Amino acid sequence: MPCLFCRIASGEIPASKVYEDTDVLAFNDINPQAPLHVLIVPKRHIATTNDLTEADEALVGKLVRTAAAIAAQEGYGERGYRTVFNCNAEAGQTVFHVHLHLLAGRPLAWPPG
Ligand code: AMP
Ligand code: ZN
Repeated sequence: MPCLFCRIASGEIPASKVYEDTDVLAFNDINPQAPLHVLIVPKRHIATTNDLTEADEALVGKLVRTAAAIAAQEGYGERGYRTVFNCNAEAGQTVFHVHLHLLAGRPLAWPPG
């Protein structure tokens, strides 16, 4: 049984898509924590950032650059935004398919909770 984000990446489950190419998909988070809350995911299943390999370095760069491009496109490039990978239980990861959170549009406290 494919995971939730594999099912979204394959089109089996609908999502509010923001960007898509052969390697990555970006879609709006279903439970947004800021005015802009987008998830950028690799189309290929990778469970956590612990599972990334050297061969994934370009893919990870693409996730980050896609987040920056979406932030700029939505008008938050200068104002600021946050990108976050949660990994495993203590970081609150709930979907075990690597995803980069892009958050913007309100002051974001530091340190995070
Ligand atoms: P994390 O806690 O880092 O694993 O983040 C998982 C994120 O996926 C949460 O912010 C959820 O709101 C989001 N999410 C869960 N199901 C969906 C869905 N069907 N479409 C969009 N976002 C989702
Ligand atoms: Zn998956």
